[in-house]
Amino acid sequence: MTARAEPMHVDTDVLIIGSGGAGMYAAIEAARGGASVFLLDRSLIGRGGATVMAQMTVAVALGAETPDHWRHHLADTIQAGRGLTDERLARLLCEDGPDCIREMDAWGVGWARRDGHITQAFAPGHDRPRCAYVDFLNTGPAVSKTLRTVVNRTSGIRKAGDLLVVDLVRHHGEVTGAVALHLATGTPVTIAAKATIVAAGGLTRLYRRNSASANMGGDGYALALRAGAPLIDMEFVQFFPIGHLAPRLIGMDPIMWDPFRYKLGGRLLNADREEFTERYGTREDGKYVITRDLATYAIIKEVEAGRGSPHGGAYLSFEHCSAEALRAAFGPVIDRLAANNIDLTRMPVEVAPIAHYHMGGVAADPHMQTEVPGLLVAGEAVGGANGANRLSGNAITEALAFGRRAGRTAAARARDGRHGFMRADARAALDLVTADGGADLNTAAMIQTLQATMADDVGPFRTQTKLVHALAAIDQLAAALGERPGGDGGRFDMRRIEWFDLRNMLMVARIVAQAAVQRTESRGAHQREDFPGMLPEWQVNQVAGLRDGEVTFASVPVDAEVAAQ
Ligand SMILES: Cc1cc2nc3c(=O)[nH]c(=O)nc-3n(C[C@H](O)[C@H](O)[C@H](O)COP(=O)(O)OP(=O)(O)OC[C@H]3O[C@@H](n4cnc5c(N)ncnc54)[C@H](O)[C@@H]3O)c2cc1C
Repeated sequence: MTARAEPMHVDTDVLIIGSGGAGMYAAIEAARGGASVFLLDRSLIGRGGATVMAQMTVAVALGAETPDHWRHHLADTIQAGRGLTDERLARLLCEDGPDCIREMDAWGVGWARRDGHITQAFAPGHDRPRCAYVDFLNTGPAVSKTLRTVVNRTSGIRKAGDLLVVDLVRHHGEVTGAVALHLATGTPVTIAAKATIVAAGGLTRLYRRNSASANMGGDGYALALRAGAPLIDMEFVQFFPIGHLAPRLIGMDPIMWDPFRYKLGGRLLNADREEFTERYGTREDGKYVITRDLATYAIIKEVEAGRGSPHGGAYLSFEHCSAEALRAAFGPVIDRLAANNIDLTRMPVEVAPIAHYHMGGVAADPHMQTEVPGLLVAGEAVGGANGANRLSGNAITEALAFGRRAGRTAAARARDGRHGFMRADARAALDLVTADGGADLNTAAMIQTLQATMADDVGPFRTQTKLVHALAAIDQLAAALGERPGGDGGRFDMRRIEWFDLRNMLMVARIVAQAAVQRTESRGAHQREDFPGMLPEWQVNQVAGLRDGEVTFASVPVDAEVAAQ
């Protein structure tokens, strides 16, 4: 056993957990509002989550390419959400998005331009060209780099990487800070804050094939729920239909084919090299028009019918495009593909659905406040803005707009608030971080088992039998995990880190599966093979809460104040 380091303590006005697009924008805005900010991340600042990985587009009604208005964007977002969109949150995304994108432009992000104006591409589900991007698959890296630069030059922001938040701290029902583990030293850290923003991203690490980083195991949802904040729409996990499947692709993003589709159309083909989306209700004619849920459905059904590509997906072909057209659209990316022995003029690639984004999350009002005073949320951690299905490009806009709004609200709260942090309130979490005596578990194997269970039984197509099977497997893993972490708590102790990861992953996985069992219909990203079709009585949000350690569910009318439940 290693000697335990004494806990370190940090005081701040605003604590921000997670430094993706949402967390960094929140930090900038809170600091501009006069607050002292502590921005932390379990990984490197600005490099640990989805934002830096995103390579595609940002949907925003700039009207640069064709006339547009945020109300048109809102109408498309609501339409895509299949009756479940929280219109207050969606409005914030669509209305504030253009301002954030223009501010990012002024900060030098480098949106692609044509004839002097920002280029806006067409994407499925949007009624006009609305998606801005940084060229050659650089959108997310450029957004992250720009925000990192502005964070660095904004006074009042302190930053710390390698800090894994394990629990929020509450005093008299208010969130007053957090307890974290410093991964590089094993030192426990307490943080007192007048306002805490959870910007910890999504949950797609729960699935075997995912586009996520290792830091996206649903921590934010679990932290908020344990602190008393309800979660909404947890059954809606978005699968990205054309995740790369074969041939082997090294050093490139598995969802990179979407921008190719935006720019060049591309053709989705089955094993017989036939276009097949028309069979499922969408005719493409060389344009990229099929939405994500329909494309996922079409590919999986084609595979089930025995018409899949050799590795179990569909072909995506750009063989009809000339080498010149490919190079003009993707420049250096073509060389990186060549290094992977992929020549798109001569061969199709294979693609298949991959877990990508979560529509559900922590319930929040348009000021990004949760039901728990002192606790705010931003980015993918927020639930409801995209209803049952998200449009391409809405997630980065959501991260920026929600982050900015959360930062503003948090700074205002900090101006009026006082520190309410008590060491006694942090005791249970500190005890857990420093606990000895947990079982010596193969946590890596347990994570793999959970990912397989979620992929096989809680994937895009669900049945009662599969979901019940998943819940039993999750219960078994939770029982094996026990109440105390293993490992010795030293430097980068993976057994201890993965114990904390599994604690959250299992909690969140169980809620996703349970919400999916209860929704006995098919809507957007939640497809029940035993309950096909949308039912009017299910045009409600499911809200999960925690009462006496047990997860409870309630169905609430869409847009209802969750706090009223
Ligand atoms: C490969 C990929 C491509 C994508 N492409 C696009 C696109 O082109 N357009 C689009 O609109 N959307 C895209 N998305 C979705 C979009 O990128 C995300 O929804 C968005 O960036 C989320 O931003 P965020 O700030 O909420 O979270 P993230 O950027 O995921 O940041 C969350 C941060 O929280 C940290 N964290 C997590 N748990 C803890 C903890 N316990 N303690 C401390 N820190 C913690 C993580 O390390 C991470 O840095 C893509 C997603 C992926 C994965």
